[in-house]
Amino acid sequence: MSLLPNAYPKRAFGQAQELAPHFNQLVDRVSRDADFLHQTLGGGVSDTDPYTAKLLQLYKEIYVQESGEPNFAKTADFLGIHRSDYMLHKDKGSDQYNIKQVELNTIASSFAGLSTKVSALHRHLTSRFEDDVKDLLETNKKVVLGSDEATTNGDTPDGVPVNPALERIPSAMKVAFAQYQSRFSPDPKKTVILFVVQDGETNTVDQRMLEFQLWQDHQVPVVRMSLTSAHTEIELDGKTGALKIASTGQEIAVVYFRAGYAPTDYPDGYDGIEWKARAKLERSRATKSPSLGYHLAGTKKVQQELARPGSLERFFPQDSDKVIIEGLKQAFAGLYSLGDDATEEDKSAVKDVLAGAEGKYVLKPQREGGGYNFYGENLLAKLKANVKQTDSDVELAPVLGEFILMERLFPPIQKAILLRGGKVEGSGDTISELGCFATVVASTDGNVLHNEYAGFLLRTKFSNVDEGGVASGFATLSSPYLC
Ligand code: ADP
Ligand code: MG
Repeated sequence: MSLLPNAYPKRAFGQAQELAPHFNQLVDRVSRDADFLHQTLGGGVSDTDPYTAKLLQLYKEIYVQESGEPNFAKTADFLGIHRSDYMLHKDKGSDQYNIKQVELNTIASSFAGLSTKVSALHRHLTSRFEDDVKDLLETNKKVVLGSDEATTNGDTPDGVPVNPALERIPSAMKVAFAQYQSRFSPDPKKTVILFVVQDGETNTVDQRMLEFQLWQDHQVPVVRMSLTSAHTEIELDGKTGALKIASTGQEIAVVYFRAGYAPTDYPDGYDGIEWKARAKLERSRATKSPSLGYHLAGTKKVQQELARPGSLERFFPQDSDKVIIEGLKQAFAGLYSLGDDATEEDKSAVKDVLAGAEGKYVLKPQREGGGYNFYGENLLAKLKANVKQTDSDVELAPVLGEFILMERLFPPIQKAILLRGGKVEGSGDTISELGCFATVVASTDGNVLHNEYAGFLLRTKFSNVDEGGVASGFATLSSPYLC
């Protein structure tokens, strides 16, 4: 963790909160658009990215009828527990930092539990030791504030905001749970939420906090299980769609995935037992968080496609949606396809990299969990090896289809002291990434029953570290100090 919070502009923090329900709505609408998902993920991606291809294949098998129309009626509701990640970045010619989306996580968004504790600690430290931390906070404030907001910083008091993540995420789970109960009337004493977790998971404390809060606030019991165990220990009633734990007879109302987002969570391979388990859970009437559609809507390829001109209009077609579209677009960084659908604009970004601007881009594969991106020299080498340059054109090798090229973001550099295992690991220049949690419950016919901002997370790392991720060892947990 970071010893102290990092300065963050109130305006930018407010923007992230305002966008939260809109991104929820977007994910829900994308998840129901089988054509869009097929066009975006079914083309170049499948050959080079068997993992996403498998998700898409299951989505089609389970939800899309022969006519091509999707049918979601067999499942209960959809529950989305999302985290949109942002870096502060200055647009060309602006002296203000704005939020730009790094990625949108729709599966296994972690740290709602631990980040709540860290922000409580930071609130305590900054008030209890106000005089000691003042200098550091003031120095950092100057770095993040644009010239006009440095003087007019609004009505909200400065400081670490209260983080509602640990109440709001369980409460969204409870909404889905209660919906299931009223729809299917299972035995109330024997109904549970299933947490699908990795064998050998190390981030268990964060998950347990959600489990304990679910019990404390809502008396909803949780059962934890890996996909491997779920294959043998969970039964699907083919007639009713009820999902039961074989040994106890407990019925599963909600399936919450904290695993299943990476190919390594399916050790038995693409025809193996973990994928069979995933399909079984998905086919049931339980509410899945995420459903296959929500999961696919969070892929980086979809993120890139949504940033194309005209794409958002497909999902927000009303005149009154224009404000929403504007807000979402402002948060998009430059995103470029390297697949067979690459446009002139995409190709000109590739040419830019090859001409020596590799420092302005990041190359990202369709992977979650940190540690896979290409920066600088590695990015240049990867493109050189897979792009044929003719006089004025570039030809992209098919392997690049599973990557997206993204504008590199340059968040403000702040001073911080980073700890590991309670000891100072180092101090110096750092950059931060804000995560904004949001929860949504929508019925199978598209009625939004619950949709709200659900707390935050700030991750801070030394500015010379390219990758992110706390669990993967690159970043620390921190909090925003609003100013
Ligand atoms: P993952 O699914 O692995 O978390 P991300 O898109 O979040 O993938 O990338 C991992 C990390 O790489 C981020 O946490 C961030 O630190 C860094 N990163 C990603 N995209 C950019 C970008 N456009 N500019 C600068 N850094 C980035
Ligand atoms: Mg990430």
